[in-house]
Parts: sequence; C-alpha cells; structure tokens
Amino acid sequence: MIVAKRKPFEEIKEMIKDYKKVLNVGCGTCVAVCLAGGEKEVAVLNAEIDMARKLDNNPVELGAQTVERQCDHEYLEELDDIVGDYDAIISMACGVGIQFLAERFPDIPVYPGVDTTGMSANQAVGWYEERCRSCGQCVLGMTAAICPVTMCAKGLYNGPCGGTNQGSCEIAMDQDCAWFRIYERLERQGRLKEIIEYTPPVEWNDQVPRTLIQPGYKKPEKAKES
Ligand code: SF4
Ligand code: SF4
Repeated sequence: MIVAKRKPFEEIKEMIKDYKKVLNVGCGTCVAVCLAGGEKEVAVLNAEIDMARKLDNNPVELGAQTVERQCDHEYLEELDDIVGDYDAIISMACGVGIQFLAERFPDIPVYPGVDTTGMSANQAVGWYEERCRSCGQCVLGMTAAICPVTMCAKGLYNGPCGGTNQGSCEIAMDQDCAWFRIYERLERQGRLKEIIEYTPPVEWNDQVPRTLIQPGYKKPEKAKES
C-alpha cells in the first residue's frame, strides 16, 4: 500500500494561516491503514489547528470529511456540494489523492497534510517497510523477488557492490545488503548461476507522468477543468 506520514504541525499551520474556513479531507484507504490520514487523523489535526489558532487570536472554522479514496473520481463527488463553503482545503491523502482533489476543485487552494513516503509492506501496526518505487520495469524475476531499486542503497541492478559487509550494507550495519539477500535466496532456490547474468540498466526514459491503460480499455475523453 501507499504510506505517508503527517507533515510537521508548524508546516501545516503556516500553509493555512491566512484562511478562515478550511476543509480537512481525509482518505479512507492506504493513508488510513497506515495511521496518517484517515478519519481519526483528520479529527486530531483539526483539534490541534483549532487550539493553536485560538491561542494565536486567529480563529478558523474547520470542516472534516473523509472519503473512501481521494484518487478516484467516484468518491470525490460527495465533496462537490461542500467545498464551496471553504477558502482552502487540506488533503490528508497521498500525493496522488492530493493532486486529484486539486484537479477537481481548481478554484480552491489545496494543501498537503502528509508527506507520501512510498509503497510499503505492513510489518506491524505503525511499522511500514518500502518495497517498491514503481520503476515501471520490474526486475524481481531476476533478483529472487527482492527489489534492488528499493532495498539497495545504490539501486544497483547488478550487485553486490564492493561495500557489502558480512550481509550488511556499507551505509549501516543494521541494514541488510540487498544483494547479499538476493544471493542467499537464489542459492536456496538452486538458481545461483542467475546472479552472474547481466541486467541492463533501466532506460529511465519515460519519467514524464506515466499512464497505464489495461488491455481492452481505452483512454476516455479528457475531462475539462470547470
Ligand atoms: S523492480 Fe522494484 S521498484 Fe521496480 S517495479 Fe519491481 S519492485 Fe517496484
Ligand atoms: S552494500 Fe549491498 S545494499 Fe549496500 S549499496 Fe552495496 S550492493 Fe547495495
């Protein structure tokens, strides 16, 4: 899932300091599961903002609304009749949701309430480990399903580098060397000879916004901004 962490309070406070009516919009999917931007976190942030603004003699009227997914038009419809009452919006969704919300309501400033930190595995409550950076050319088939882009400090497609140290990465002894782990797993699966097969570097030539259209579907007419 996509994970995020709430922005520092002072940063959020500064972004909305000139607005008197602010709607805080949570997202009920990934950021809710990772405890950053769901209904509960919206309520907590609003309480903090309310108190801080009162102490500053700069009161603000705050709204709270959490939709199922901010990255989906279908779920943003419920905001259409609400946002007009506000001067600004805080979005507690991931970077995709924030941008999607801003596209739907282009006349109202939208501010991020969280920092999106990656696509991660849920290891335990409150503990998330990044596993994928959506590079677009997955090499897990060659690396025993361990992602070198994410897990190797240098993002090496052919490793290990000379810094590998008894199973740890040269940047820190408490961080596994991704390529040591790839070696171990390939060996366990009887595939060790694959580690010497050269993996060409990724072209990185499609770093403009990528569009995915699944087979059998087509791009719809572009919706106009109102
Ligand atoms: S190689 Fe790593 S970053 Fe690229 S798609 Fe596969 S898991 Fe994601
Ligand atoms: S020590 Fe291992 S994980 Fe660290 S940069 Fe080198 S190959 Fe990558």
